[in-house]
Amino acid sequence: MDDCIFCKIIQGAIPSTQIYEDERVMAFHDIEPQAPVHMLVIPKKHIASMAEAEPDDAELMGHVLLTAQRIAREAGLEETGYRIINNCGKNAGQLVFHIHFHVLGGEKLGGLNS
Ligand code: C5P
Repeated sequence: MDDCIFCKIIQGAIPSTQIYEDERVMAFHDIEPQAPVHMLVIPKKHIASMAEAEPDDAELMGHVLLTAQRIAREAGLEETGYRIINNCGKNAGQLVFHIHFHVLGGEKLGGLNS
């Protein structure tokens, strides 16, 4: 996708602070962290949002989530807990239309059940 910021990050055309990469996914630090640890995990395949994911993407999406688990563990978040967030659509706060999962932790997180 020519005008997708995250596709450009995957291509290396826009810099990012990379945490993990393999043939299917990438993880990097969010440039505007909302918690002491704020990382993003994305599939290399351009899927605009959760609403666009298809049954054929099931294995890929599972790998994305297990990558979130992996980077959370490697960042030392397992002891204290962490949150994985996906914003789907403008009303949910989605700004970048390349599916991504936020991994947040490093402090007690507010909202939801807290
Ligand atoms: O879920 P949402 O689409 O709002 O999140 C997009 C996230 O991508 C933001 O947290 C923003 O800070 C991050 N971002 C980034 N690097 C960029 C552009 C956006 O980490 N070059």
